Amino acid sequence: MKIHLKDICHLAERVEGNAENAVISAVTKDTRNVSPQSLYVPIAGERFDGHNFLLDAIKKGSVASLWKQGTPVPEGLPEDFVLLMVEDTVLALGHIAKWYLKKVHPVVIGVTGSNGKTTVKDMVESVASTTFATFKTQGNYNNHIGLPLTILSMEETTEVLILEMGMSGFGEISYLSKLAEPDVAIVTNIGESHMEQLGSREGIAKAKLEIKDGLKESGLLVVDGDEPLLKNQKGDNVLSVGFSTEASFHITSIESGTDGFTFQLEEGTTVYKVPVLGKHNVKNAAYAIAVAHYLNIEENKINEGLNSLNITNMRLQASRGRGGALLINDAYNASPTSMMAALETLAGLEGFERKVAVLGDMYELGSMEEEMHRKVAQKAGVGIDIVITVGPRASWIADELEKTGSDSLKVYAFPAKEDAASLLSQLMDKKTAILFKASRGMSLETLVNEFSADE
Ligand code: ATP
Ligand code: MG
Repeated sequence: MKIHLKDICHLAERVEGNAENAVISAVTKDTRNVSPQSLYVPIAGERFDGHNFLLDAIKKGSVASLWKQGTPVPEGLPEDFVLLMVEDTVLALGHIAKWYLKKVHPVVIGVTGSNGKTTVKDMVESVASTTFATFKTQGNYNNHIGLPLTILSMEETTEVLILEMGMSGFGEISYLSKLAEPDVAIVTNIGESHMEQLGSREGIAKAKLEIKDGLKESGLLVVDGDEPLLKNQKGDNVLSVGFSTEASFHITSIESGTDGFTFQLEEGTTVYKVPVLGKHNVKNAAYAIAVAHYLNIEENKINEGLNSLNITNMRLQASRGRGGALLINDAYNASPTSMMAALETLAGLEGFERKVAVLGDMYELGSMEEEMHRKVAQKAGVGIDIVITVGPRASWIADELEKTGSDSLKVYAFPAKEDAASLLSQLMDKKTAILFKASRGMSLETLVNEFSADE
């Protein structure tokens, strides 16, 4: 990217220094990865204030900085250094991003929802990049800071921009959507995370649907057609995507194999193939197909895109473990919905004599946490032979299973993941499939790595 600083001076309250000839080629908030010719955005956080690190940023190549009015400016700035004085550096970052977005003018796809945002974003990108110059959110840069930084790191030639929009309370998706003004807005599903802040599933749905606030007037809203709180969205420009017959974008003829699924859409003849486990990924792929149709991408390109999918690590990632066991690493994160979906995937696998679920704590469930862990037990008891819980919260799953599970089900509860290692080492053979799932903070992938075939 390349921005002539003088073109964005009108977005500042006041400019110090001479911006006439300055050009910036990157925007950064972190002095650890400042690139030459960058605009530094100091952000005042809870523990650190970025304003204190301006001289570091300059040493590493910043040529200009946003600056909160009234904050003392350090001595010894280079003569040609430019300060853009603003009321609020985060809001100003948003304004600059919006200005740059208008200049580049790609088709914008916004993705929100409780689960599946990153997956859908990656799938849309895989499909769109067969035909267009695309750019997408990197990692989890999906909030009021990450999203504008994402916009500001796209190339000027970008034709389709795919933005993940995350939130933890009301008003956040509205802000992101008004900033990005999507052409297509996707709400992947409604789960239970952030129940504490939003009160109920209805509250969660309302917060996600704030994505409509910035949706272009001619834009397309795409929602989960299997979710009662979403499927009744009205209007000509609404698509509901789902397995249920009322869905306007109706998925049919699903067949599962060991390396993924094939499926069709009711109104079409194409057989689509998605190379990932988990039935929810069929719907995620259907979201990507809906976007592909919006972008008029050819049918054969859609399958080409889906086949080249490179899902971010740690989402239902299958690999071989010691003794030939199948290890399914879904340790990236967990919520009740996604944990139950993963358990269903495990239960549905064919060709294994023993299915084992290693389940860790789910965080951020507020006052619902005990109830939600117990609810997961409903799925953990079906089609699975051994359930191993690790962590104090996950032990509620074990407790519930002790009460309600079948007699043939074996249940073990360990206080910490390290304690499960010796039991796991006895289960490693090629007739066994083992799922690992927990909230990010548990880092359950360390167990997967410990038992992987090549360690
Ligand atoms: P985060 O809030 O952490 O950014 P995310 O919304 O980006 O999460 P993903 O990282 O794509 O979600 O997927 C997280 C988990 O959610 C996956 O491991 C999978 O088990 C589950 N999941 C993915 N898609 C769906 C879906 N459509 N419905 C229910 N669960 C899903
Ligand atoms: Mg994500």
